[in-house]
Amino acid sequence: MSKKKTQETASLPTTPDLNFPQNDSLPNYLPVVQNFIDTPIYSPDPMRMTCLTCRQDIVTVTVPEAGLLTWLLCGGLTLMGCFWGPCLYPFCIEETKDVIHECPNCQTSIGMYKRIGG
Ligand SMILES: [Zn+2]
Repeated sequence: MSKKKTQETASLPTTPDLNFPQNDSLPNYLPVVQNFIDTPIYSPDPMRMTCLTCRQDIVTVTVPEAGLLTWLLCGGLTLMGCFWGPCLYPFCIEETKDVIHECPNCQTSIGMYKRIGG
């Protein structure tokens, strides 16, 4: 009654029949799902960097876009009684807007500088 049957299965070589393709048959790259992933800290000014899409050394083109701060200021002015007109001023002031960094070479959006919630 002292025979150890479990010893037999444990001594077998491990799964020699599996013919899964090994990892080295796959291209060794990280899939880029979105260009905003793994972004450096962006400033509101054009930045020198390497474009993730075209791999060129570029200075980004900045495109202002209404962001959270713009809308908050607009909402604040509206609450203070400044309806149509003054409440739209934040949309004319670039310092209230978020900034999109684009590649001048391939026009891809590389990243974004957010005034609030970045
Ligand atoms: Zn590019």
